Amino acid sequence: MQGICLLGATGSIGQSTLDVIAQHPDQFKLVNASAHSSVKKMAEICHRFLPERVVMGSAEACDELRELCSGLDVSIEWGDQALESIAAQDGVDQVMAAIMGFAGLKPTLSAIRAGKRILLANKESLVTAGQLFMNEVKKHGAVLLPIDSEHNAIYQSLPQTATGAVKKDVAKIILTASGGPFRSWSLEDMKSVTPEQACNHPNWSMGQKISIDSASLMNKGLELIEACWLFDVTPDDVEVVVHPESIVHSMVSYLDGSVIAQMGNPDMKIPIAYGMTWPNRVTTQVPPLNLVEIGCLNFEAPDLQRFPNLDLAAKAWYLGGTAMAILNAANEVAVAAFLQKKIGFLDIARVNERVLFGMNIDPVESLNVVFQADLSTREFAHHVIAQGDF
Ligand code: NDP
Ligand code: MG
Repeated sequence: MQGICLLGATGSIGQSTLDVIAQHPDQFKLVNASAHSSVKKMAEICHRFLPERVVMGSAEACDELRELCSGLDVSIEWGDQALESIAAQDGVDQVMAAIMGFAGLKPTLSAIRAGKRILLANKESLVTAGQLFMNEVKKHGAVLLPIDSEHNAIYQSLPQTATGAVKKDVAKIILTASGGPFRSWSLEDMKSVTPEQACNHPNWSMGQKISIDSASLMNKGLELIEACWLFDVTPDDVEVVVHPESIVHSMVSYLDGSVIAQMGNPDMKIPIAYGMTWPNRVTTQVPPLNLVEIGCLNFEAPDLQRFPNLDLAAKAWYLGGTAMAILNAANEVAVAAFLQKKIGFLDIARVNERVLFGMNIDPVESLNVVFQADLSTREFAHHVIAQGDF
């Protein structure tokens, strides 16, 4: 029986993880869970899965949840320290890192330092803390399983050893991208895109922020950086290919010309279950892939003119140091401003570029530097947006 701590339980990845737990109660038990402010959803989770400890984002949310869970034997807490504590607790074997954004970094690091199996959905934590994150994984012997579907596919397409997948004889990584809802739109049409349109992903059902990132291709930019840290490569070793059907989740190209791909219907339960059961597999209730029905798989090059975020991410990687934390923070602020209709869709990439090249980039000597860069970038990004200076 594996004890699971589910960080971000009320989100899209959270829900899919709960589905896998519910399908295999003989193998998994929800021990701890967290959410930010979704009290009702969390109350339902508590009543159904009976976790030991639950952490919310504020005292108010905590009080409300206590009322809804009176009579249940669950400890309800709030705040950063409690979040870090539930991720490191005895009895937790695996930690699903599925908080949205930079906020996921601290609890994920806490889980790493406690030597847990890390199921990494929260790409922003790896993108921003990069080398430090990977160093901590090595130092504490944590097993890191990528949950992002592309990285999970790459992991599955690499040779497996007892301690994980290894990069051997690899020529190139081929990272697929759906292209999002505006793949074939003109720049002119993309000017007036609404948040509702941007959240309406053609293939995947996801949280708001990652849906916007997918539409702007910033998600692929973050994933490019994520792949570089996970698989010890540079952006030059990664080819991004747009594949609108989202059936091939990514590929590894080998020195001899062989290409190994992982395919499946676009449902996050597949990579989640793989991470939870690796090196074994379990059923997921995802319908089997019907290639005859799909008929045709398409591939095309990404258009960097209409989607400059992808290129910005590669530039941030080569700039190094805090550049990736800066780009991530700028993007989190820009996406929030777009959702509040303060800026247009195409402005997201403009703000990102303005902020990335408007900040000092420092070497990442400690985590403190990353947190400081995140904080000062947010301030600068808010200023840039308020002044319309992009
Ligand atoms: P959602 O927005 O659906 O869920 C986010 C979760 O994080 C919720 O439980 C939310 O709580 C919690 N949360 C939000 N803000 C904070 C905060 N400041 N502090 C603590 N908790 C917070 O996101 P997704 O599930 O879509 O994505 C989660 C992560 O997984 C992201 O990093 C995303 O990039 C990554 N990912 C997601 C995929 C997907 O298919 N959805 C695919 C690949 C990666 P509350 O409900 O209370 O707000
Ligand atoms: Mg992905």
